Amino acid sequence: MKIVFATNNANKLKEVQALVPQGIQIIGLASIGCTEDIPETSATIEGNATQKATYIKENYGYDCFADDTGLEVDALNGDPGVYSARYAGEEKDTNANMSKLLSELKDKKNRNAQFKTVIALYKDNKLTTFTGICLGSITKEKKGEKGFGYDPIFLPKGQSKTFAELPLEEKNKIGHRGKAVRLLIEHLEA
Ligand code: IMP
Repeated sequence: MKIVFATNNANKLKEVQALVPQGIQIIGLASIGCTEDIPETSATIEGNATQKATYIKENYGYDCFADDTGLEVDALNGDPGVYSARYAGEEKDTNANMSKLLSELKDKKNRNAQFKTVIALYKDNKLTTFTGICLGSITKEKKGEKGFGYDPIFLPKGQSKTFAELPLEEKNKIGHRGKAVRLLIEHLEA
């Protein structure tokens, strides 16, 4: 089975490809000639994932899935959430995003947070969504070089290392995207 993953993020592609069994082939957007930014204008993570998958189906005709992820911080009432990419501005600067979050939490005792990934699958003219959540907390400083995005400041619950200090296989075992991808695979193989 061949299916398009609607992302231009090489890190996400790598994480997902590491989880998918041999019988399922994941194709990136470059392979279908899609180089434009896909609109993500919804006010929810679910809405954005659905919007991206629908865009590819309607404009390119392929069955596909898309993921959208947000970091929800308890002390900030769930922010940055759906606005995680643009938290510190339209430049989508990862370091600026992390610095802003660390600064917002400077005086907060409660540093609990969760990553939430929603995958929207558009297949056989039907939309299905799969959600993966990873509980954890925000560290006081950036640690680790692996991963991407907010990984250096996210400490998964029960772990002593941030996502950016863990090998990809470990992040995938306990992480939000890994959980959502496993549900997607179960569905595709059913
Ligand atoms: P999007 O899903 O690409 O829209 O990502 C939203 C924001 O969350 C971006 O700033 C990403 O860098 C960040 N992000 C998405 N997935 C992860 C992850 O697995 N770890 C850390 N940050 C992530």
